[in-house]
Parts: sequence; C-alpha cells; structure tokens
Amino acid sequence: MADYDVIIAGGGPVGTVAGYALAKAGLMVLVVEADSQPPEDLRASTFHPPTLEMLDRLGVLTDMLPLGLKAPVYQYRIRATGEVLAFDLSELADRTPFPFRLQCEQWKLARLLAARLAAHPNADMVFSRRVVHFSQDADGVTAALESPTAIEQLRCRYLIAADGANSIVRKWLGVEFEGFTYPEKFLCLSTTLPLDQHFDRLAYVNYVADPDDWHVLLRVPSLWRVLVSADEAASDADLKSDANKDAIFGRLLGDGPPVETVHRTIYRVHQRVAQRYNHGRVVLIGDAAHLNNPLGGLGMNSGIHDAINLAEKLPQIILEGAAAAPLLDRFDRQRRTVMHNFIQAQTIANKRLIEARDPVAREEYYAAMRAVNGDTDKRREYLYNQAMFKSLDDAAVIA
Ligand SMILES: Cc1cc2nc3c(=O)[nH]c(=O)nc-3n(C[C@H](O)[C@H](O)[C@H](O)COP(=O)(O)OP(=O)(O)OC[C@H]3O[C@@H](n4cnc5c(N)ncnc54)[C@H](O)[C@@H]3O)c2cc1C
Repeated sequence: MADYDVIIAGGGPVGTVAGYALAKAGLMVLVVEADSQPPEDLRASTFHPPTLEMLDRLGVLTDMLPLGLKAPVYQYRIRATGEVLAFDLSELADRTPFPFRLQCEQWKLARLLAARLAAHPNADMVFSRRVVHFSQDADGVTAALESPTAIEQLRCRYLIAADGANSIVRKWLGVEFEGFTYPEKFLCLSTTLPLDQHFDRLAYVNYVADPDDWHVLLRVPSLWRVLVSADEAASDADLKSDANKDAIFGRLLGDGPPVETVHRTIYRVHQRVAQRYNHGRVVLIGDAAHLNNPLGGLGMNSGIHDAINLAEKLPQIILEGAAAAPLLDRFDRQRRTVMHNFIQAQTIANKRLIEARDPVAREEYYAAMRAVNGDTDKRREYLYNQAMFKSLDDAAVIA
C-alpha cells in the first residue's frame, strides 16, 4: 500500500509546479524540500509566454502577475557600435494572451505554490527533509527521507526527481550527465541603483555583446541584476570583493560614487543533459535532468515544461490504468529532444554571440541578428522561437 501516488524530491520552481499540477489532477502527492522553505534563490527571473499560459491553466498566474514586471521588450545591444536591437513580444499578441516575459524571481513562484500545496487536500509539502535514497520494485518506490533527527521510509507509486543540479536521485540512478562545464564562472551582482537612468532606452532584459566585457542587465521588481563572466583563476573572495565590484560598475557606468550591492553571487555554469529521464518508476525533471547557461532564460522554463508534460501523463497511468512505459518513454523522447535541439543549441549559440572575440565570426553573428531584427517575418519567427513556443510545437508532434 503506497503512502502517496507520487513523491517529489525538491520544492524549487519545478518540483512545486509538478506537485501542484498532479494534486489538481487528482493524485495524492508529497513534495519534499531539503531547505526550511523554498530557498530565496536569485537565479531565474524570466518567465516566457508559454510558461505563463501553463501557470494560467494551473490557476496561479493571477497571483503571480502582481509579483513581477511585464517585459514585452528585450534587447540585444552591440556595445562597440552602440546599436540596440529591440525585440518586442507584443508582435505575438495574436498568438498568446501573454505577449511579454514576466520578470519575477523564481522563489516567488515556489513559495506561492508551497502555500497552495499546503492548503490542497491531495497534497503535503514537508521542509527540512531530504530524499537521501530510494529503491524501486514492480509495485512502487520506497523513498528514504532524512530529517534532522531520523530517517523515514515512505512508499509511493512514482518518484519524481526535481532536486536540482546536484540531484542525489540522478546520482543513485547512475545515469550519465553528458555535456560540459564552462571554465569561467558567472558573477551576478544586484543593486537598487536605477540602472535605467544611466543608459538610453534600457529594457527590463538586455543582453550586451562585447568581446572583452559582455554582460546582461536584468530588472526584477526590487532590483537590477548585472551578470558578467568571471575569471576562473580568481578566488571567489576576490570576485566578490569591493574592488572587483567597483571595477565592474566602473566599466559599466564610468566614474561615480561606489555602487551598493544587495547580492554578490557566483555560479558555475554547465551544458549537461541526462542520458535518459525515465528509469522505471523514477523520473528526472528540471535541473536534475538538464543544465544550461542562463543566456535566454530557458532553464527553469524548460523544467516547468517538463513538469507540465509529466503531470499530463502520470494521472493517465495511475488513475486511468494506461500502460506506463509507452507514456513515460514518450515523455523522455519529447522533453529530451527539445532539450538537445533547442535549449542546449540555443543557449550555446547565445553565449557565442554575446562573447564572440574572432572579428569575422563576430561580424557574422551581428549581421545575422541585424537581418532578423530588421525583417518583420524573420523577427516574428525569432520571437516565437525564443519564447519557446516552437519547442513545444516540436515536442507535441513527437510520437
Ligand atoms: C544566474 C542564473 C540565472 C538564471 N536565470 C534563469 C531565467 O531567467 N529563466 C530560466 O528559465 N532559468 C534561469 N536559470 C536556471 C534556473 O535557475 C534553474 O533552471 C531552476 O532553478 C531549476 O529549477 P529546479 O526546481 O529544477 O531546481 P532548483 O531550483 O535547484 O530546486 C531544487 C530544490 O530541491 C531541493 N533539494 C535538493 N536536494 C534535495 C533532496 N535530496 N531532497 C529534497 N530536496 C532537495 C533544493 O533545496 C531546491 O529547493 C538561471 C540560472 C542561473 C545560474
């Protein structure tokens, strides 16, 4: 006898979306979060239009919208020439009710959903518990949950691993996490200084291409965030120092008083995909299944798309008795194909463009972006693609 239909390891944005979608579909769900609450994580800040459509269908968008900023326009800026190539999602207003990115910190979604899960009759969410081990048999999965004082064993029919980049579930499965890790680190500084007053026509999302000093300027409701690449050889302490912070803002803003920061965070960045997402009764989603660089804001969004796809299939298996293997194999084919063909390819291309050093390659990239930006049809296609609609269309037709 199972304690739950589904146990989800990890209560980040992806695990909480999966948990809430499954509870709403009628399954008994437990979401297990290692931290004492969904961590106040500064990583993802962009929700793309199809993700907003999914959150709307889940009935949570009305509560989300006031927590973020609508960003219809994002920009590519070519620093050497001062060009601003603006892309306006309003051009897709005939294809989506939400023709904008929502700039909203990822933890706000996780916390909103944690509250919804706590109130839902089909769901439990526990904190300060860590999934440390599992075993599976023909009837279900036994998950071991470690608390500060004990280890508890719970039975479920399916275990979803949404436990992030260092997923212990993925490690126990022994599945290859193929790909590479960038040598450099990424440094993210946040500030309450209104950066838009220092640049002409800054949007809420700006990718600034520069062979020596590329950066991303992003607005969330209370802060501006500056993302730069950082020397792999420098120590974390040096990268987070006032001297480095002042040098970065000096290059951005010129001479002026020191800029106060709220956060100084260092990330290692990877391009990796698990060799397979479904393993019997255990399924990997989100960062547990795939990692990519943050240029384009695709990682969490694609994890939420995994969660919604899986939450359509598991109820068919558990409530309607559909055969599990064909549905879960299709989940794997759909989501892993999109991950390789679009998310990995696009984020690697985005990084090449923003940092291109070779003058010939750089001019080719810039010329291609100008051509897309200047042509109505190509620009609409680009907007549709970058907003992740095409990746979902492509996944839908995978048998
Ligand atoms: C600088 C930066 C900017 C980014 N910006 C964007 C963006 O704008 N848009 C976008 O789409 N993506 C972005 N990303 C990627 C995004 O942050 C991740 O893809 C996203 O956090 C993945 O969500 P997740 O729920 O799968 O994993 P996580 O957010 O890592 O959540 C995993 C959760 O599981 C918990 N956990 C871990 N181990 C266990 C365990 N054993 N048992 C129980 N709980 C456990 C953790 O405490 C955590 O709460 C960015 C990444 C970086 C580094």
